[in-house]
Amino acid sequence: MGRAVLDPNLCYSYNMRTCGVCYRACPLQDVALKIGMYERPILIAENCVGCGNCERICYHYPQAIRVIPFEDRSA
Ligand code: SF4
Ligand code: SF4
Repeated sequence: MGRAVLDPNLCYSYNMRTCGVCYRACPLQDVALKIGMYERPILIAENCVGCGNCERICYHYPQAIRVIPFEDRSA
């Protein structure tokens, strides 16, 4: 398992284009993933279960939000 990580440089909502699709796909809305102004996703990393819905649905390619496996974090 892992946790979602957001790259604001790639995310539409952090770059003048309201999106928020990942928020609507998250099974833990407002627990693991909140939404801010312009539907900017705000992760609460410790509550994310790593389901990957946000990464699969992300409208940006390459994905602006990705699940990083725990074992990769020490690299
Ligand atoms: S990986 Fe799942 S639980 Fe975590 S923020 Fe994305 S959709 Fe929500
Ligand atoms: S779906 Fe992707 S581009 Fe859209 S708000 Fe979420 S991370 Fe940003």
